[in-house]
Amino acid sequence: MQGRTNPYFCYMKTTDFPKKMMGKAICLAKKGAANEDGGPFGAVITKGEQIIAATYNNVNGDQDCTQHAELRAIQMACKKLGTTNLEGCVLYTSCEPCMMCLGAAHWANFDYIYYAASAEDAKEFGFVYSNMYYNSSTEDRHEEFKMIQLCRNEALKVWSQK
Ligand SMILES: [Zn+2]
Repeated sequence: MQGRTNPYFCYMKTTDFPKKMMGKAICLAKKGAANEDGGPFGAVITKGEQIIAATYNNVNGDQDCTQHAELRAIQMACKKLGTTNLEGCVLYTSCEPCMMCLGAAHWANFDYIYYAASAEDAKEFGFVYSNMYYNSSTEDRHEEFKMIQLCRNEALKVWSQK
């Protein structure tokens, strides 16, 4: 039954590791929003085939506007690994990181960042980033942070269903 009602369920069984991780991030986005803990955004950090952190946006739950999924995942991963450098780790996020989270990602030093919905998609759904972000080059951002888009449609479904 879940397979039919959950549009990204297929990714939970896939052997394609990045898709599987993104499926998890998208599921977390849905879960966080359903719990009313924050916006519909989820993030997972992996090292090799191991999940180091998996969380969602908790700005309401924590009453803290900085508790975005990516930032929380970075904080969790650093604590768990006992390091300030997440080199060798990969971030999977259901939406392209905002300026705050990209800033944190710079210090985290990820190998790659996979994102599902784009910043432009987010804007269309009312999640508006700062002008400084929009005035920067998308190409440059993607190159600097080694960003790869994955499972965009599945992420958009979460927002459309709201
Ligand atoms: Zn953010």
